[in-house]
Amino acid sequence: MGVVLNYQCGCGYKREVCIGAGLRASRTDILSALFSDDELADFRKAEAAGDVTSHLCENILGFCPACNEYHTVSFFHYTCRDGASRLLTGTCPICGHAVTQIKETTAIACPNCRKFIEAKQTGYWD
Ligand SMILES: [Zn+2]
Ligand SMILES: [Zn+2]
Repeated sequence: MGVVLNYQCGCGYKREVCIGAGLRASRTDILSALFSDDELADFRKAEAAGDVTSHLCENILGFCPACNEYHTVSFFHYTCRDGASRLLTGTCPICGHAVTQIKETTAIACPNCRKFIEAKQTGYWD
């Protein structure tokens, strides 16, 4: 189950993101909607060869420097029989630019005024 986080800054900036793993987290048929065929090529190969031992798709909080905005971004990680894990991080859903993963989601810097905004957990999704 994922959480819904709400950020509200004194300057008027507001953002709500859904992060974490939802019900679809362990399904691989949703991946095509989230990543390009190129990005998925290695995974599909490993999957077809029965080489994938575990995989999880979740949402992370990402910051896009091109939009100067926070977005919910897809993050897929899987482990193969050789023990190596591989990661795929989605790009900005608006402009396609690479995003920076924000690991500390309890407080983020406001893109407008740079003040720290504390997250309020407003609910769960899935
Ligand atoms: Zn962007
Ligand atoms: Zn602000």
